[in-house]
Amino acid sequence: MKIEHKQMAVALLVRVKIEKWRRIPVIYGRTGRVIPGRVIWLGKELNFENVSYEIRYYKNGRACYVPAGKSASDAEEKRRTLQAQLSAKAIAAAAGVAVTEMAGRKTLKTWAAEYDDKKSVLIGDAQIRKERYARARFFDVVGKTYIDELTEIDTLAFLRHLYSYPVYWIARKFPSKRVQAGQNRRRLPTQHRCLSKRTVFQYFMIVRAWLLEGGADRKIFPPPPKFEEKEVTIYTPEEIETFFSLATGNLRMAVSLMLKCGMRRQEAAHACFKDIDYVQKTILIREKPEYGFQTKTRKQRRVPVPDDLIADLRHWEKNHPGQMLIIQTPKGKPDRRMIRELKRFVYLHGLRCGLCGHCQLGNPNCEEWEFHKYRRTYITAICRHVDLRTAQEYAGHARITSTERYLKAASAIEGQKRVSAIDWAKSFYEPPATK
Ligand SMILES: [Zn+2]
Repeated sequence: MKIEHKQMAVALLVRVKIEKWRRIPVIYGRTGRVIPGRVIWLGKELNFENVSYEIRYYKNGRACYVPAGKSASDAEEKRRTLQAQLSAKAIAAAAGVAVTEMAGRKTLKTWAAEYDDKKSVLIGDAQIRKERYARARFFDVVGKTYIDELTEIDTLAFLRHLYSYPVYWIARKFPSKRVQAGQNRRRLPTQHRCLSKRTVFQYFMIVRAWLLEGGADRKIFPPPPKFEEKEVTIYTPEEIETFFSLATGNLRMAVSLMLKCGMRRQEAAHACFKDIDYVQKTILIREKPEYGFQTKTRKQRRVPVPDDLIADLRHWEKNHPGQMLIIQTPKGKPDRRMIRELKRFVYLHGLRCGLCGHCQLGNPNCEEWEFHKYRRTYITAICRHVDLRTAQEYAGHARITSTERYLKAASAIEGQKRVSAIDWAKSFYEPPATK
């Protein structure tokens, strides 16, 4: 057998362990093919099984190594491609042609890290975590290295993987102990044992945006999955009346701010006394950098406060002297976990619906009671009392379409009388009787 050592600018090496890990040039057979696993060391022919290959090339006089997999023929193919690319560049440079530095092929992993880095400056922590989680689900099923290798099969596999998560998770029968819950949170920072259709849509769009920005072909993506958009749920007047007849203290004040000023949960938790204008009867909703709180749209807004709530707030401020926050924990910090108080209140006063998943399973935390529902009630009401543009302003929505959703909320109830007025036994086509 004729054995020749090719001194090449781009060489294929094999990684083997002879006393220590070494990179040794591969042996080419008579036909020009790489003989798998064969090396010559100290004049002796040695055969190895299950070896991995690397490609060596020189960049500015320094050797660079690229992993080339475990298949000898594939590795040789990769080496040839790289050599052709490099020589084309060298010829162009010698001819004095300005060569624009071709951006190297992007690997999925490096692009994920790069994108993460860039986004972390622009968007909040929670969103970053969500995007990371969505990408991790992508890497669960797609094992490709480069972005330009992706095909529709990969994106479909990703979508199928998302659909494989159950839509519902059976709620715990007994609420876990606090310590246990803490341990769970630490172990699973993003706990998504089930994905709703809406979440599947969101994850798909996150990964799609990430890959498109990385230079993926638009054609490899199937149309985005569909999900059912939920109707807005609000509290009935009776529920609100019952709540205010029973609630006291911090919980009552928090709900008042959400129901009567349309605050979000965190906005109510971070509201300060100095934001209130008692003369104009308004309150300013703004960021609180001292507590690390930012408004959702990064915009301040001033909303009117009803007379009864202004009176309540005056009284409240008198009873809580020297306090910055309207609602605070005994330690003087913003109460970010008021939801526990609401669920406890509902349980103690027997207000649970008895029909939702949690109620059915005997879990005391009824799903029908939540803080955001008070805000939804506020926006639904305010839409019917002021014009839509003003309602958007008070609600602090970035887009008017978000507010329009609330205008729709009770239109079925409003139309009910008109539907009732229809006499179904009469012909609809009869022309009106002329005199
Ligand atoms: Zn319930």
